[in-house]
Amino acid sequence: AHKEPVFSNTINAVAICRSPYKQKFGIPRQPGLVNAKGYIELTSEVNHLDAVRGIEQYSHLWLLFCFHENLSQGWKTTVRPPRLGGNEKLGVFATRSTFRPNGIGQSVVRLHGVVQRKGKICLEISGMDLLDGTPIIDIKPYIPFSDAIFDARGGIAQDAPELIPVSFSSLAANQLAHLGAQSQYAELESLIIGVLSQDPRPAYKKTKLDAKLYQVALYDLDIFWHLVDDKIEVIELKPTR
Ligand code: SAM
Repeated sequence: AHKEPVFSNTINAVAICRSPYKQKFGIPRQPGLVNAKGYIELTSEVNHLDAVRGIEQYSHLWLLFCFHENLSQGWKTTVRPPRLGGNEKLGVFATRSTFRPNGIGQSVVRLHGVVQRKGKICLEISGMDLLDGTPIIDIKPYIPFSDAIFDARGGIAQDAPELIPVSFSSLAANQLAHLGAQSQYAELESLIIGVLSQDPRPAYKKTKLDAKLYQVALYDLDIFWHLVDDKIEVIELKPTR
């Protein structure tokens, strides 16, 4: 009888992602949906300019990474994709679920440039769907002639999800005007709108009358919001303690 080949390999991070997303709730479900800005910082083992020589000639990168926050929860053969309202199951390999046998994710992000911060090489990126602190296990250029497949079928995720309108209370609008003047919050308004217009709520909530107070963490701010007539209203922006 055939024996299954034994394979084992230890994988170390080559970089750490720095993103405005400080908790899983609210992170876009795929890359490219929200124009969030961040960077990935090479780890000391690969911190050589030679390792990224030539990378600026690409506009986009593939990031392979570890869903490190979910590893301890293991995986299941089937999952309930939010796209199907949480009512139907698909096989784990038929979805982009974060609960996978090897816990590996992959995302295409835009590359803006290479900089050095405190001696560490950083690739400035945008459009990521990664939690702040996510370990990156590989970085590769996105190659359009081969990676972009225009007649590909997208299954349950053929089109981008519908967006929901987002407004600000007068308190939140004032806070935003104040914070937006500080350089670390550049583009804060478009980030909040981008994130909330994806409607981060779990699928089952969307079909119910929903009076819950929600919160997402962006940078060092807690953004509080709720639903008003099926639209999102931002109530308040509070510095995280
Ligand atoms: N584009 C990737 C892929 O297809 O492999 C990720 C898709 S996955 C559905 C995106 C979600 O992963 C985000 O909305 C966020 O909740 C979650 N996520 C991002 N970084 C994570 C991390 N380090 N650990 C666990 N979950 C993470």
